[in-house]
Amino acid sequence: MNNEELIRRDLSVVWHPCTQMKDHETLPLVPIRRGEGVWLEDFDGNRYIDAVSSWWVNIFGHANPYINDRIKAQLDSLEHVILAGFSHEPAVRLAERLKDITPEGLTRCFYADNGSAAVEVALKMSFHYWHNRGRGQKTRFINLSNSYHGETLGALAVGDVDLYKKTYEPLLLKPLTVPSPDCFAREAGQSWEAHSRAMFAHMEQALAEHADETCAVIVEPLIQCAGNMRMYHPVYLELLREACDRYGVHLIADEIAVGFGRAGTLFACEQAGISPDFMCLSKGLTAGYLPLSVTLTTEDVYDAFYDEYENLSAFLHSHSYTGNPLACAAALATLDLFEQEDTVARNRALATTMAESVAHLADHPHVGEIRQTGMVLAIELVADKAGMTPFAWQERRGLAVYRHALTREALLRPLGNVVYFMPPYVITPEQIKHLAAVATEGIERAVST
Ligand SMILES: *Cc1c(COP(=O)(O)O)cnc(C)c1O
Repeated sequence: MNNEELIRRDLSVVWHPCTQMKDHETLPLVPIRRGEGVWLEDFDGNRYIDAVSSWWVNIFGHANPYINDRIKAQLDSLEHVILAGFSHEPAVRLAERLKDITPEGLTRCFYADNGSAAVEVALKMSFHYWHNRGRGQKTRFINLSNSYHGETLGALAVGDVDLYKKTYEPLLLKPLTVPSPDCFAREAGQSWEAHSRAMFAHMEQALAEHADETCAVIVEPLIQCAGNMRMYHPVYLELLREACDRYGVHLIADEIAVGFGRAGTLFACEQAGISPDFMCLSKGLTAGYLPLSVTLTTEDVYDAFYDEYENLSAFLHSHSYTGNPLACAAALATLDLFEQEDTVARNRALATTMAESVAHLADHPHVGEIRQTGMVLAIELVADKAGMTPFAWQERRGLAVYRHALTREALLRPLGNVVYFMPPYVITPEQIKHLAAVATEGIERAVST
């Protein structure tokens, strides 16, 4: 088997996610034969550093020996069992540990099998909570502009990235969309904190006008990842928590991308010192091994559903693979590694290396901004720096960086005109410097036409 043969077979049967398949007439598909640590290797023996953690899921590298062992051990005793009426130790143990490490007050774990499903669960639970409490007029959600919460219809509806959403608009719930505290939009010289604080006025107003009909506010804490890695200050979350309490509206924290150390703390909400009413986790939960998600919530929410069966107030949502034992074993192994290796503390040095590695790009005429929160670093390319004018999206400048990176042992998949590093935490300082060199070359090529 070589690359060419697998590509030919692939393109005659597989329909790839998030892809205009016609692109592959000119853009090479990369078939991967094996992975080890940060490395991916194709069928012709070319290697690539996985700088995007295979869509933000990988944490401890590919084929991590410890996680492999834990999954193999689980496989020999129980691969799967129905989680309604039955239970198993990995699901119980994982819920116990998540309760202990997540913000105070999140005591109940509802499992599903992907991030979008975790968001659907949070939306339905919040609505249903108010319904069970006699507040059935609460039917709407408040979200932020440029947000992303997944691709299923409910999750898509509470997102705000046109590229993914616009076509399906006629099918979707209508949220109340409030301008994002995104600090790329701040005035020159304004601090992140001052900008995020000022932007809260829009949220305050939306809550003041619509709290009676609103179930919950849903946000991605600190980083709008799919929305081009736009970032904001924790003060916004502090203000939001206080306002949600004041107006009697739930707060849903979608930490699917930013959880498990990505934002520099185990969970991003920690940086604001807040506890949401619902927290959605997936992606890094299994270190990129198996699909699993969890929606954590409070005793207050749990109690609103706890009643005689005949009152029909139970939460009857389910997915076939809910709480899969193999996936739970991968998640437990992931939490073991966080504890054993003190990952969050060790990442601080890597985050500093990431910042230093690209510092030379700060004054580049086509780099509008370099921003970073924890283990996510983003470089925003602009056509004109003075006016922060974006490149026309049709020019697909980021794609030129991607193409160049593939020739230089790196998988750097940009979001539009934003080049970013979101690597597995097992990356070395030397590998980060290599990524920075490749990104610099790629950016030169991308802007020089
Ligand atoms: C990826 C992502 C989702 C969706 O998760 P899937 O597992 O891809 O369905 C939801 N919210 C955020 C913030 C994400 O980054």
